[in-house]
Amino acid sequence: MLRSPEGSLAPEIVSRLGEGSFGIIGPTANGEGVIELFIQRYGAAHDNKVANVNINVPCDGPNALAALVGLSGVHGVSSNPEQLEAARRYYRHSLAHPDWPQCYRELFDAIDAVRLLPLSMHPMSELVLGEHGVVDGSDSLCFVGIGDALHALPPWSGTSGNFAMQDSADLATALLELQRKEQGWSATSLARTVRECERAFLKRADEPRLRCIKAGEGFKDLLTTPVKEYDYVGSPEKVKTPAAQWF
Ligand SMILES: Cc1cc2nc3c(=O)[nH]c(=O)nc-3n(C[C@H](O)[C@H](O)[C@H](O)COP(=O)(O)OP(=O)(O)OC[C@H]3O[C@@H](n4cnc5c(N)ncnc54)[C@H](O)[C@@H]3O)c2cc1C
Repeated sequence: MLRSPEGSLAPEIVSRLGEGSFGIIGPTANGEGVIELFIQRYGAAHDNKVANVNINVPCDGPNALAALVGLSGVHGVSSNPEQLEAARRYYRHSLAHPDWPQCYRELFDAIDAVRLLPLSMHPMSELVLGEHGVVDGSDSLCFVGIGDALHALPPWSGTSGNFAMQDSADLATALLELQRKEQGWSATSLARTVRECERAFLKRADEPRLRCIKAGEGFKDLLTTPVKEYDYVGSPEKVKTPAAQWF
């Protein structure tokens, strides 16, 4: 997490970031693979310039990443100085290849907090709604899941936040509709309505989920795809790392 890109990054990076997101690729330290580096603003207010800077690290689970970085595990966002320094060290080492301009190698020097974020997602709706996915008796619960709590997708879907907002708008519409139709709410009608909403919300996340699963299969190739072969928008048949499928 970077509170002030303007105050701490090279002007060349700030101008490319603008008000939104910026991605760049370069070689891994050994030159055999690709590192994808992203910066993304996320402050809701216009004058809130906060951004996250991230690199994706293909590895076998969150503990493996923590060990690589030299941490015993970071839960949530941490601004502990030792943890920050460990993340900076790991990042600097990752961008050690001479093809990276120095200003990118120094990017993590300015971070204010760090998070090791395991990218995980919920399974396809068929599994969630299937025999083992629904807890007995939950059909009558006046409790509803929406957004990531119901159907998290990994960040490279580029749509998870949109689904969360769409879910809340559609849920509000369904509840207003119920109130109009039934002249008052009963626990049963409320539970029926929210279960219907959840089913619809889960199912519409399946299509991007499938794309994310396919893209996830190519993630490990990043470490063995030389920069010259990496093609962000090219034809998936021609390139080893079919990033074109990601979005
Ligand atoms: C690095 C990254 C990049 C992303 N990029 C994109 C993108 O470009 N486009 C896109 O559409 N989506 C993107 N997403 C996904 C998007 O951020 C999420 O899908 C979206 O924020 C989900 O919204 P939500 O309201 O369901 O959950 P959240 O935004 O996670 O909100 C849940 C809230 O509940 C709070 N909370 C948790 N537990 C408790 C508790 N016990 N008591 C009280 N409060 C609690 C949390 O602090 C949090 O504020 C990205 C995600 C990540 C991590």
